[in-house]
Amino acid sequence: MDEEKFRRCYKEDCKHPVKHLDEQGLSWCGHHWRRREKILDTSTKACIICGKEKLSKDFKSPKINEPATVSKICKDCYTWLDVKLRTHSKRADTPLTMTTWLEALEQSEGNCDYCKTFVGIGNLTIEHMTPISKGGSNDKSNIAAICRSCNTSKGGRDIETWQRSTEATQLLIGFQEHLGLSSFETINLAIKQLAIAMNGADYRKEM
Ligand SMILES: [Zn+2]
Ligand SMILES: [Zn+2]
Ligand SMILES: [Zn+2]
Repeated sequence: MDEEKFRRCYKEDCKHPVKHLDEQGLSWCGHHWRRREKILDTSTKACIICGKEKLSKDFKSPKINEPATVSKICKDCYTWLDVKLRTHSKRADTPLTMTTWLEALEQSEGNCDYCKTFVGIGNLTIEHMTPISKGGSNDKSNIAAICRSCNTSKGGRDIETWQRSTEATQLLIGFQEHLGLSSFETINLAIKQLAIAMNGADYRKEM
């Protein structure tokens, strides 16, 4: 019985024939022999996406052309990210690559690209500055890492429209506070004046 166990590769569930015996007396197949250091490694590190402390072996190794950041992401989060990126890729001509998204995450240092609030890398969401539905691409120049709050607020609008509406809302709040506007009529008048002041655009559509 014990002998049977001894003749099995140390790697759980491995069915390959044993080829090597290490100094500790553990047996290994040819495939896992080369990976034994990683398999036996009990050191841990925190994943930059889920924040969980995991064994080093539970982290991805970067593929060719992938950034070193990959090694800071646990396998579970990598799989989850990969699926997410594939979904985004379907809607555009070119795919949103892991490299593009990880570079955006690294650059953000956990801060929202729009409001600059620190939310942590794991809480940043994929943002197409020009939505794919409006002809935007998955190119790095069109990708931002933003907080959920900004993402919900922006919705499917392009960045200029969203920024204009955010500015208009802020101005309106300022009007209300400083001028003590309270009734619907005076607020409505303020919106109209604001719209005329800003090239006649109708901001009520955006708010
Ligand atoms: Zn094996
Ligand atoms: Zn993770
Ligand atoms: Zn934000």
